[in-house]
Amino acid sequence: MMFHAFEPALTPPEPLDQPALWFVFQGNQLLVRTAPGEAAPLTGLRLAEFGLEPVGVHYLGRHRGQPCFAAEVGADIPAPEGLTWSGLRALFGVLDDEMLGIAGRAVQITDWDRTHRFCGRCGTPTERRPQERARVCPSCQQTHYPRIAPAVMALVRRDDQLLLARSPHFAPGMHSALAGFVEAGESLEECLVREVREEVGVEVQNLCYFSSQPWPFPHSLMIAFKCDYAGGEITPDPSEIEAAAWFHLDELPILPNRVSIARRLIDATIADMRASEAPRA
Ligand SMILES: [Zn+2]
Repeated sequence: MMFHAFEPALTPPEPLDQPALWFVFQGNQLLVRTAPGEAAPLTGLRLAEFGLEPVGVHYLGRHRGQPCFAAEVGADIPAPEGLTWSGLRALFGVLDDEMLGIAGRAVQITDWDRTHRFCGRCGTPTERRPQERARVCPSCQQTHYPRIAPAVMALVRRDDQLLLARSPHFAPGMHSALAGFVEAGESLEECLVREVREEVGVEVQNLCYFSSQPWPFPHSLMIAFKCDYAGGEITPDPSEIEAAAWFHLDELPILPNRVSIARRLIDATIADMRASEAPRA
């Protein structure tokens, strides 16, 4: 993951001393240059080079030294010659993983900026605050920050089996770990126990934090845990879960894309299970 590749900042270099990476959005669609099997954001000093006039620009920081901007253009602007609008999910495994990470940051900031033009408390038009990523109301001083919705992911293990489930909106055959949003007043651990109980009727124990991943659809932070089965029979909640079952580690279903934290969680747990299998003579 990109722990060191990206350095966030608020104030762009002035003047711009080198071509920047531009993450240009129309709604949630990113403007990319595509070739078979790959895609890249725009590179240049100004968006005018591409004939684009953005309605909003945000400096994001530097990726391996290169300045990065998020920009938004109006809904009726066609893609310039040779470029394409694309949703981020369609760019998994196509756009470089580090670029995908910055694109996720960019889409959340443009979405937040677009939806916080007016104060939620008094309705006055808000203004950008120069010293932090926030919009402030000049009338009542209410500050509006980009919102982030934490969600917990749980992979339940029982001996050499994993509990995997599918939502109706998953690709055909694909199964994954369970996940759900944290409710007001709830800890991550409480959320996990509740979600697993509600979605499949199973009790868990030995919760162990694995890792986290920003999930910009539209503004989640997915926090992933491993846990052990503690009791109950699988009883899927039909409003959320289409199917759920125990899968032996040698007979796994179709799994999520390798870019997702779900896949990293499943792969790491399988590696643990294989390492703890008794060596055979
Ligand atoms: Zn206000």
